[in-house]
Order: sequence, then C-alpha cells, then structure tokens
Amino acid sequence: MEANVAVELFSSAPKSGVIYSTYVGDDDSVTENHLKTLVNYDIDKWSDVNHASRTLGTRLYMAKGKIKGLTPNVISYIQKSFTYCVNQNKGQPSSLLEGLTSIVPHAFGKHDNCSNSWCGYKKDPEGYKHGSLPGGKDLTGEDLRATLEEAIRPFLSHDSVKKLAPAGSSQRNESVNSSIGSKAPKIRHYGGSQSSDFRTAAGIAQFNKGNRYLTLATEKMGLAQTHITEQNTDKIDKKRKRDGERKSTKEFKKREETLERKRIKRPILLRNASQQRTRQGSAGNRATKRKPPSRMQP
Ligand SMILES: [Zn+2]
Repeated sequence: MEANVAVELFSSAPKSGVIYSTYVGDDDSVTENHLKTLVNYDIDKWSDVNHASRTLGTRLYMAKGKIKGLTPNVISYIQKSFTYCVNQNKGQPSSLLEGLTSIVPHAFGKHDNCSNSWCGYKKDPEGYKHGSLPGGKDLTGEDLRATLEEAIRPFLSHDSVKKLAPAGSSQRNESVNSSIGSKAPKIRHYGGSQSSDFRTAAGIAQFNKGNRYLTLATEKMGLAQTHITEQNTDKIDKKRKRDGERKSTKEFKKREETLERKRIKRPILLRNASQQRTRQGSAGNRATKRKPPSRMQP
C-alpha cells in the first residue's frame, strides 16, 4: 500500500467511529514509519506471511548461480518450510523462533532441535526421506548452509518473530481488490466517472455476499426480480463454493506443487534451447562470412 494512502485511511477511520488496531503488510519501512508518526493512535504492525516468504526467496535467488546446490527446488523448499512453520506456530512466538531456527539444520540432516510434531525423521529415523528435496537426500555444502542461514537470520530477531507470529495475511485484501477490479478495471478510468462509487460498492457486496448480491440489491430497491438472474447467480455461487472446497483438498495442493516444480524447471529448459539457437545462429554467421551468398556475387 502506498504510504500516503495508508495514512489517509487510518487517519480518517475514527471519523466513522472505527479504529484500525492492526496493519498487515510487507516490511516496507516507509509505510510503517508514516503510520507510526502521522496517525495519532497506536497501531500494531504484523508481517504478511506471503510477503515475508517472497523476501526470503528474493534473497536466495540473488545468491543463485554463485552457490553450488542453490537450485530453484531448494529455494522453493526453504520458502515452503518457512510459510508452513509460521502457519503452524500461529500466536506462539517462542515455538515459531524454534521452528524457524531448525529449518536449515533439518534440511542438512541435523534433527536435534526439530520438533516431534513436524519432523518426519523423529518419527522414522531409518526410513525418512525429505519429501521435496532432490532425491529425498539431505542438503550438503558449507557455502549452501551459510547462505541459507544468512537469508533466514533477519527473521529470527525478537521484533521480526513478534510481527510474524500472528501469521497475518493480506490475501483477503488482494481478493477484495480483484472483485472491485472486475467492476472498475483500471484501464477504463472509472475514477473519473460517477459510477465509480457504485462499482466499488458492487465489488465489496460481491466479496461479502457472493453473486446473490444482485438479487438482494434489486429486492431492496423494489425492482422486479428476474428468475433467470436468480438462477444464474445461484449457479455461479455454487460453483465458487465447490471450487473453494476442491482447492483446499490435499490432492489438489499436491498436484499444484508438482505443476509448480515443473514450471520452475521450464525457464531453464527454454534458456538452454535459446542458447543452442544462438550458437547455431553464430555458426551460421561464420559460414556466411567465409562464403558470401550467391546473390552478392557478380
Ligand atoms: Zn528434523
């Protein structure tokens, strides 16, 4: 969120008898500082889990290529362990700290500080294999370990753990944003139109009530009900519910994970293919220099 917009929202809320006690966002210190200095009531700052995981990923991707074994698979594994750990230790800063501290040792096969609740090795030391690491094997390499620890370290401070522990997420905001965006696409500049407020209200109503907001609104306004609208909105809402249930199943999440792993591999394959094409291209150029095309000959 833009810092000045955040300040405006938080400052004007008390006029409507509301005080926002918490702000969930990325660790953009500008917004946080603005809120602290320019809003005249106390606001608790929570870190957004997904933003934090992205920050961790960015740190690791910056070191990729310089560190042996720091592959996209390993980066994705560390990010997932991080998000899982935060969600599993919701509201418990001290066990969250223990969990975050044991992510890297666990990946390297050192399970002394792992918790029985999540470490598969503790349950079955003989047969345990890492589910998401290459070949199920422990990671190796001092440089790799140091890089991973360095990337996680900033999250281990007292302040960071305190902000992460509530497992805040701004995902619902993103979702309401997309509902509003579907009624008032940015490309159309509805901000300059009188319909802008209605479009925003329609997006919020859809987010809160589902598509049946249409029939509820027409009912309230005393407009004629149409059976077809009712039937269609009912159908869309039911589909949305079914999709939500399907997406929260274990099988769906597993399939998504497999597809994501394939997506991670794809850019590397494409890059290799384009390098090959470039090599073929330059070989062709060399051939051209040795023997000019026939149409150039007298
Ligand atoms: Zn372990």
